[in-house]
Amino acid sequence: MLTIPGLCWLCHMPLACPAWGICSRCSSALTSPACCPRCGLPAAQGIAQCGRCLQKPPPWDKLLFVTDYRAPLKSLVHRLKFTATTALAPALARLILLKVNEARRNGAVAKPEVIIAVPLHSRRAWRRGFNQSALLAAPLAHWLQCDYQQAAIRRTRATAAQHKLGANQRRRNLRGAFRVEFPVAGRHMVIVDDVVTTGSTVAEMARLLKKRGAATVQVWCLCRTL
Ligand SMILES: [Zn+2]
Ligand SMILES: [Zn+2]
Repeated sequence: MLTIPGLCWLCHMPLACPAWGICSRCSSALTSPACCPRCGLPAAQGIAQCGRCLQKPPPWDKLLFVTDYRAPLKSLVHRLKFTATTALAPALARLILLKVNEARRNGAVAKPEVIIAVPLHSRRAWRRGFNQSALLAAPLAHWLQCDYQQAAIRRTRATAAQHKLGANQRRRNLRGAFRVEFPVAGRHMVIVDDVVTTGSTVAEMARLLKKRGAATVQVWCLCRTL
């Protein structure tokens, strides 16, 4: 579908502010069920952390997402990733910004200092031509006046496609796949990803950051698979 600049990517109506990409009506319609603020999985409203997190907390401190993995956001994520519609990235990053601002107004999120993106292995990045998570992370860092560190974590080897693997295999597949190449001790970090599914990739990254002394690690993404 052709998108004319100045029209909303979702409803195709003229935008009050063309830079937004998605109108305020469409963005406020993107909501999710009540979720645990720590793992992002469905939970009763008003609780600090779900039972799963109390028993076995994930290595990150907070997970923020725009909606669960469904239309209409799912199709925009697909367009960004698989049809290389990179013009969509700032509009999608802004949806994350709106969630972050809302969480900060509620006092739920501390101001981060360093934003990083889930890295692709250089071979996959070369084939695709871009890293969709980096396209989301860079404008967020700019708007929030944080330090954007593109190379803070490197993928040291290509890993088998995660979606074909079970949970235990995913963890094994990721062992030793990343290397931290930036001083993170005492810093408040954010990892940006497009879609968090089982969370094993961001968990491995958060584990490494915490091991290196990061003060807090948040995960921000567009969609969380529930
Ligand atoms: Zn719209
Ligand atoms: Zn939880």
